[in-house]
Amino acid sequence: MLCLLAAAAFYMTNLRASAATEVAETVHPKATEKLAATSYFLPTLTPNPNYTPPVFETSTPFVLENGPRPTIIGYSLAGRPIEVYTFGVGEREYLIVAGIHGGYEWNTIALANELITHINEHPEAVATDATLYIIRNMNPDGEARAIGVDGRVNNNGVDLNRNFPSDNWVADWDRDGCWIYRPTTGGLYAGSEPETRSVMGFIKAHKIEALISYHSAALGVFPGGVPWEEPSKRLAKALANATKYAYPPIDTGCEYTGTLADWAVENGVGATVDMELRNHRDTDFDENLKALKVFLSFIP
Ligand SMILES: [Zn+2]
Repeated sequence: MLCLLAAAAFYMTNLRASAATEVAETVHPKATEKLAATSYFLPTLTPNPNYTPPVFETSTPFVLENGPRPTIIGYSLAGRPIEVYTFGVGEREYLIVAGIHGGYEWNTIALANELITHINEHPEAVATDATLYIIRNMNPDGEARAIGVDGRVNNNGVDLNRNFPSDNWVADWDRDGCWIYRPTTGGLYAGSEPETRSVMGFIKAHKIEALISYHSAALGVFPGGVPWEEPSKRLAKALANATKYAYPPIDTGCEYTGTLADWAVENGVGATVDMELRNHRDTDFDENLKALKVFLSFIP
């Protein structure tokens, strides 16, 4: 009898134990494996199963042979990288931004590629106390979409040079004297676009002395600030003198709102300009090489 009781008790305990295990297994799934943060960045001999390569196309792929790799500061709406090339290690920092209007102003991207290639071959172009950053294409989706008027905006139809949260940002503006070839907006809100935020983040993380935002075509050199700020006017005059682009710029009656140049001077950059190449085809390389020398010695 005692034996039977003991056996029964043993059997019941086992049942309860296995039931408990079952419950425990259903309620608490296996903990998710956590990898050390650094493991994503370490070089590996075998493919990293956690890495998904970005899928994108560029219409003018640019690879700098025997030069520094670009840093990716963000991605466009379609997932294309926004790259910055860095030359020099000095404490005076300068920034060139090209391609803000994508394929409509594709020659600014071509100019940036030429400047990057040239500076890589002539590193003395950047003085030892200076650092030059070149964002070669701020609007890669626009460039990939079309060369021409259809390539101007980003994939949300936003004019990126009207999307910066400057004091005068507006979603819509009076089109008199302005670009009217396709519908566009300043964005749902100021700084709404990933391309804009990538560049804002980069500028906020540095102490930029001066900035050139390249455009085309033909209107000249526009100083940053509303109204134009003195150091930016001085920079515009110096660059116009080197390139023979128009200064003061041609006034078509258009009011410019939410521009990179205005937002940048309002947020700590010493001097900024919007600078327009002569047409929509040429890079004006020689003129802009002279401009580069003036730019990199400019003290706001
Ligand atoms: Zn433009």
